[in-house]
Amino acid sequence: MCYRLDCKKCGKYSWGGCGKHLSTLYGSIEQGKHCNCHPWPGVVMPSSQTTTQNKETVTQNKCAPTTSTAGI
Ligand SMILES: [Zn+2]
Ligand SMILES: [Zn+2]
Repeated sequence: MCYRLDCKKCGKYSWGGCGKHLSTLYGSIEQGKHCNCHPWPGVVMPSSQTTTQNKETVTQNKCAPTTSTAGI
């Protein structure tokens, strides 16, 4: 079973052990406190957040008022 260590470089939590239980260990550590100095094999980390926004195109239908002047 793997265990967490205090990284002396960044002050966050690193890991030690066999390296096969890192997904469990990674989940037990708070977000933002994971050491980035050592790799976490087997752990999927959200490196970059990509937000795609769909722009809604508003089509305005201009209804031109037709004024018909009826002469008497
Ligand atoms: Zn382990
Ligand atoms: Zn570190």
